[in-house]
Order: sequence, then structure tokens, then C-alpha cells
Amino acid sequence: MNTRVRQLLRSFLLWELLKGLRVTGRHLFARKITVQYPEEKTPKSPRFRGLHALRRYPNGEERCIACKLCEAVCPAAAITIESEEREDGTRRTTRYDIDLFKCIYCGFCEEACPVDSIVETHIHEFHFENRGENVITKEQLLAIGDQYEAEIAAARGTDAPYR
Ligand code: SF4
Ligand code: SF4
Repeated sequence: MNTRVRQLLRSFLLWELLKGLRVTGRHLFARKITVQYPEEKTPKSPRFRGLHALRRYPNGEERCIACKLCEAVCPAAAITIESEEREDGTRRTTRYDIDLFKCIYCGFCEEACPVDSIVETHIHEFHFENRGENVITKEQLLAIGDQYEAEIAAARGTDAPYR
């Protein structure tokens, strides 16, 4: 049977349509993989790195000692730190900004921090509504740390995910 005749026969028998319907039929009864986000969520890797947080010690003192290692190691130059010495001789940040548009969520800042201060949480559902909100401030980072400290502390050194 030559090619022309075969093509005509296929057109007449709606061969392409039947092929398409076979694919549809196969998926109609297969297990569904679509999830109804945000009501349903897919599992997240324990190594997922999301929104940052700054942590405090249990007595409320902020952990960050303004060593600037995180700022130095950040490959995206997303962290900006300013600091000053306090009356008790310790050094603390007066400014700790992270530009979330620049951040590539590599986790280097978290790895570099000698006092487990800056961490990346599993929060990935955040958005900005106004220009400039992409720069997250020290106060905001501390507030996130305060809110999620229990989960963060429990997950440090383990593979358990925290949100
Ligand atoms: S996760 Fe990486 S890119 Fe983002 S602030 Fe930390 S070091 Fe910089
Ligand atoms: S967050 Fe950690 S690495 Fe960054 S300045 Fe503070 S103490 Fe140093």
C-alpha cells in the first residue's frame, strides 16, 4: 500500500483522533497527580531553603554578633550589614538587610554563621506588594525567628523539615 493511500485511509478512519482519545482514556482512570494548591501541598525536601530568619538565645538576646561572615560569603551580595559596639563592649548589628530579589537561596550564609543566627526556614509562601518590600530588614528577620524558633531549634542538626 503506497503512502498516499495509507494517509487517505487514516484520515477516513479518524486514526489521529483515536490515537489522541487513547491517551485521554489512559489518563482518565490513572492516579491523579495534580494537587489542589494551596489546600493540598506536596512533600517538601528536608533540605529545602526558604525565607530567612534571625534567631535569638532563650534569654531573648539576639545571636548575631555582627561578624559579617554571612555578608562576605554571600555570592549574590544580597546581605547588607552595619554594626556598632554596645556599651557592654559586645558588637551587634544596627542594620541587617537581605535583598530577596538578589538572594539565590544557596544557604551559604547559614553555613558560614558561627552562632547559628541566620537560618533559612521552609517558608516559601511569601510575596511583595510594594516596591522595596523585597529588602527584608533585621526587625522582620528577628520576628520570623521568634515566630518559628521552636521548629527551627528542633530541626537543627537533624533532617527534620521545619516551616
Ligand atoms: S542564601 Fe545565599 S544568596 Fe541568599 S543571602 Fe544567603 S548566602 Fe546570600
Ligand atoms: S548572622 Fe551570623 S555570620 Fe552573619 S553577621 Fe551575624 S553572626 Fe556573623
